[in-house]
Amino acid sequence: MFIAFEGGEGSGKTTQSRLLAIWLRDQGFDVVQTREPGSTKVGMRLRAILLDSTHQGLSAHAETLLYAADRAEHVEKVIRPALERGSMVVCDRYVDSSLAYQGAGRVLGADEVAQVNQWATGGLVPHLTVLVDVPPSVGLRRHAHPADRIESEPLDFHERVRSEFRALAARDPERYFVVDGTLSQPEVSRLIQDRVREVLPD
Ligand code: C5P
Ligand code: MG
Repeated sequence: MFIAFEGGEGSGKTTQSRLLAIWLRDQGFDVVQTREPGSTKVGMRLRAILLDSTHQGLSAHAETLLYAADRAEHVEKVIRPALERGSMVVCDRYVDSSLAYQGAGRVLGADEVAQVNQWATGGLVPHLTVLVDVPPSVGLRRHAHPADRIESEPLDFHERVRSEFRALAARDPERYFVVDGTLSQPEVSRLIQDRVREVLPD
């Protein structure tokens, strides 16, 4: 089973994906917890390129392809092999991040970005996608570290990203679970566990 976490900056999805992986292991599942970008050797270099604040004005098309390259390598080297072994995969960001950040944030349009990613992933879609939703004004304030290249984008960029995530979730309620990321961390975890319990194999 493949579970993806999505959300804007400072939504708490990284924390929540780690907590879910721990909870699943406690239930006896073998779990691979991973993230994008940067979970392969080449992916780590792509992540560094993508988030480097000195790369201002990087072409939106190049940006899309670099995220897709990271994802292609991640799917081939990490995600598919884990799924084939029968492991649970919990992934912090996946294709929907590109639809939101490059499709809506960069205004490339979600359809073309979806095509690129369909090709890059061989059409691998998560069984469940958890959207940890917070207003960007809240999420961006939670950040302790210096802002990376994408986090430094203006508020309206992050508002477009959030709207796209919410629109994707509204279009596919079977696959998506939207949780209010402004709730307390234990409350968010409990809501996610309740939803995941419904899709777990016996
Ligand atoms: O989740 P994390 O903050 O580690 O992700 C790295 C950065 O990459 C994020 O700041 C996010 O804005 C950006 N990103 C992006 N497009 C994607 C995936 C991530 O701009 N498709
Ligand atoms: Mg970030």
